[in-house]
Amino acid sequence: MTYAAPLADMRLVLDTLGNLSDDAAEVADAVLEEAARFAEEELAPLNPIGDRTGSVLENGVVRTPPGFRDAYRQYVEGGWNALSSPPETGGQGLPQALAAPLTEMWNSACMGWALCPLLNHGAIEMLNAHGSPEQKARYLGKLVSGEWTGTMNLTEAQAGSDLGALRTRAAPANDARWGEHYRITGQKIFITYGDHDFTDNIIHMVLARLPDAPPRSRGISLFLVPKFLLDNDGKPGERNDIRTLRLEEKLGIHASPTCVLSFGEDGGAIGWRIGEPHRGLEAMFTMMNSERLLVGVQGLAIAERAYQTALAYARNRVQGQPIGMPRAKGAEAATPPIVHHPDVRRMLLSMRAQTEAARALAYYAGAAIDAAHRDPKAQYRADLLIPVVKAWCSDKGIEIASTGIQVHGGMGYIEDTGAAQHLRDARIAAIYEGTNGIQAGDLVGRKLARDKGDAARALFAEIAESLGDLTGAFAPLRQPLADGLATLETATDYLVDAEPPLAAAGAVPYLNLFGTVIGGYLMARLAISAQKAGHPFAAAKLATARFFAEHELAHAPGFLAAIKGGATVIGFDPDQL
Ligand SMILES: Cc1cc2nc3c(=O)[nH]c(=O)nc-3n(C[C@H](O)[C@H](O)[C@H](O)COP(=O)(O)OP(=O)(O)OC[C@H]3O[C@@H](n4cnc5c(N)ncnc54)[C@H](O)[C@@H]3O)c2cc1C
Repeated sequence: MTYAAPLADMRLVLDTLGNLSDDAAEVADAVLEEAARFAEEELAPLNPIGDRTGSVLENGVVRTPPGFRDAYRQYVEGGWNALSSPPETGGQGLPQALAAPLTEMWNSACMGWALCPLLNHGAIEMLNAHGSPEQKARYLGKLVSGEWTGTMNLTEAQAGSDLGALRTRAAPANDARWGEHYRITGQKIFITYGDHDFTDNIIHMVLARLPDAPPRSRGISLFLVPKFLLDNDGKPGERNDIRTLRLEEKLGIHASPTCVLSFGEDGGAIGWRIGEPHRGLEAMFTMMNSERLLVGVQGLAIAERAYQTALAYARNRVQGQPIGMPRAKGAEAATPPIVHHPDVRRMLLSMRAQTEAARALAYYAGAAIDAAHRDPKAQYRADLLIPVVKAWCSDKGIEIASTGIQVHGGMGYIEDTGAAQHLRDARIAAIYEGTNGIQAGDLVGRKLARDKGDAARALFAEIAESLGDLTGAFAPLRQPLADGLATLETATDYLVDAEPPLAAAGAVPYLNLFGTVIGGYLMARLAISAQKAGHPFAAAKLATARFFAEHELAHAPGFLAAIKGGATVIGFDPDQL
């Protein structure tokens, strides 16, 4: 149940797809190695403790599991939190492509812990993009260093996917002490790390409505609401009017406190507006986009950990003579472990190939975001990839964690092996930050619709061009990728012209097809790059790319049938369900 960061794999993806500057490439090894040490030695041992103990609410105070707070202190002291924040905020400006492996390591090691910095990261990006100079001066530095953490307060009981339904209110106020501010009242549910004992302040980013707000999503504003109001020296002082009512009991990530927060039971929590009135959702989207990439990385992270757990078990568990292996002679001859059974090998290879594809896709999207920071014209590519990374990688995390249990047989269902925790933890990534159904709707309804598929086709042209490289040892990858690409092009043409309800009904299989084809393309590039660099694992890379081509890209026609089968879905009367 230990964790070893897959540094060689990470480095290959970065070198092939990360598009790192010379400066970033130079520090990459040192950063990755030091992060691996922290993840393996400090965070990974916390994972089962967090699962068993969970965070608790006692006398209104949230206590995280033993060791969590100290690990967070070490993380801040090590400067890890500041690494990927922009230099103008006091961060070190690490590119997203290089931040992605760090997020992967923290989440492979202990997702229940890693959620706290993950949300803070989004809060930093949002405040940096939309905060006033004064807000940035007072809060940003502490969030970047990690001395304080940021949260994301969107969800209410009646407003989950549909944020237009939210009711939390913000009334304008003005006094000598706090200047122009707002009094926030309402209840938020499911707030990750909405309260905890890691830091001496928590800065909530809260969506609420002004009194004159237009209806629904056109009338939502964003507010900065600290747990402790700052005194004249900028230090946490008086407690704000925010109460933690409950922590949710949940399937996984037990260590991560999922809070029901009540704002303003005693006259109104004090907050300050971020950005323009009624434009809060736009600002919040900066945070959500950042988080969506990272949630996709969480899926990848759990997949990697589940693979390592399953492989270690399969190398030790002995159960029957594998088909096709001659029985060893002699009284002392041992039966080989289950890793030699063809079906167990198939399961492990499928876990490994899909994890490699998810890693390639996630880091590639990180590089696309970096490119968009340098050149706004590259933004459409990044926008296209974000919902795919979020949904495809988080779905893979669940599937791979489930296969991991299967590799263990009955022991996978027993908590001692840790395989069950991986599945329980992975499950949430397909739900929060916009469910995967919402991501697919975003891909088809917004990202394809807004340019009639042009950004997608530019990516497809790149894939088509790469087919010419698939010769010699790589030739078996060529036809499955060419067929998958042709299917994706057909599906894209169909969806761009489809009526919106039909397009919506085909959106999830389309996202699956999209992720699978891009995954196959990127794996082919990795295999070629490994061979060119003379990597010792070049043959293994080709084998996993080939497995992916033959076993995953082979599903492309099935996805297309489901995409075009939207009429059956739309035509079905919900009363008949
Ligand atoms: C552990 C945990 C942590 C969380 N952390 C946070 C947090 O830190 N901050 C925060 O604000 N929220 C947080 N959330 C809330 C999370 O983002 C929401 O649960 C999620 O967005 C879905 O909303 P919902 O639960 O209301 O489901 P619903 O919106 O009710 O969705 C139910 C089903 O209907 C589908 N559906 C709904 N609308 C559509 C549509 N338009 N098109 C297609 N399908 C649709 C959904 O895909 C889903 O399958 C967290 C939730 C959990 C469980």
